[in-house]
Amino acid sequence: MMETNKENVKSLNHSEKKQISLYSIGINFVLSLIKIFGGIVSGSAALTADGVHSLSDLAASLSVYVGIIISNKKSDLFPHGLYKVENLVALVSAFAIFFAGYEIAKDVLFGETEPIKNLTVAMGVIAITVLITFLYSRWEKQKAIELNSPSLLADAEHIKTDFYTALVVLVGVLGQYFGYPIVEKIAVVVVVYFIFHSGFEILKEAIKVLLDASLDHETIEDIKDILKNEPKIKDIITITGRNAGSFQFVQLDLVLNTDSLKEAHEVAHTIEDEIKKQMPFVEKVIIHYQ
Ligand SMILES: [Zn+2]
Repeated sequence: MMETNKENVKSLNHSEKKQISLYSIGINFVLSLIKIFGGIVSGSAALTADGVHSLSDLAASLSVYVGIIISNKKSDLFPHGLYKVENLVALVSAFAIFFAGYEIAKDVLFGETEPIKNLTVAMGVIAITVLITFLYSRWEKQKAIELNSPSLLADAEHIKTDFYTALVVLVGVLGQYFGYPIVEKIAVVVVVYFIFHSGFEILKEAIKVLLDASLDHETIEDIKDILKNEPKIKDIITITGRNAGSFQFVQLDLVLNTDSLKEAHEVAHTIEDEIKKQMPFVEKVIIHYQ
């Protein structure tokens, strides 16, 4: 009965996380659409650039969604394969993002910027963007803390930077409108920086997984702390493992304080359950004992 309740809570959390990451996809989709449309109609290079930035955010939020979906699958059924497909897709989208950033930088920095044709449209789009990003990042941050989800927290922080980016675009549009195109060029540089930043984050994550990066120091220390509370462990020989996207695969080599094979097996199970319970991103624990 207890187990069933725990499983229910887990799957409820999971479906809520999935739901929130779908909202992020929807928001980035709407933002890229209205910014690119508004940028073209108003003639603002900064707003169009910010629209491309939202497109790169859309790619990032799609990969968060895929990560959350994969986290709920039984990994034994398809060992590691799917993670790498996800990361290959991420790798390709990172390069698409870099290319878009380069194109914008080239056009705006070495070309002539146009005067603002329609200030009302530009201002309307910026106002909507400011409102959506401000409210949504606050709400998502609160949810991320409730659900203890690092990927949602990172997304909330990112959308908060999108709020500041919109303010930069606002300054750029006003600068251009009042006859200072250099202000808009500077705004575009700031936005291009954020485009490259988004691309770089995606690329870093992808390469980490593709190269089977090992566990970070902090994770290993956390595992050590959990193991210290298990009296049946006589000695810890090694703690190793690897990352796969947001998930971790842990491998332990332990000396146990028992001669009974049955008991050793039970202890191993207890350890695995405890680690998984305290560390939600640990997907699998393999324990060798002697
Ligand atoms: Zn962004």
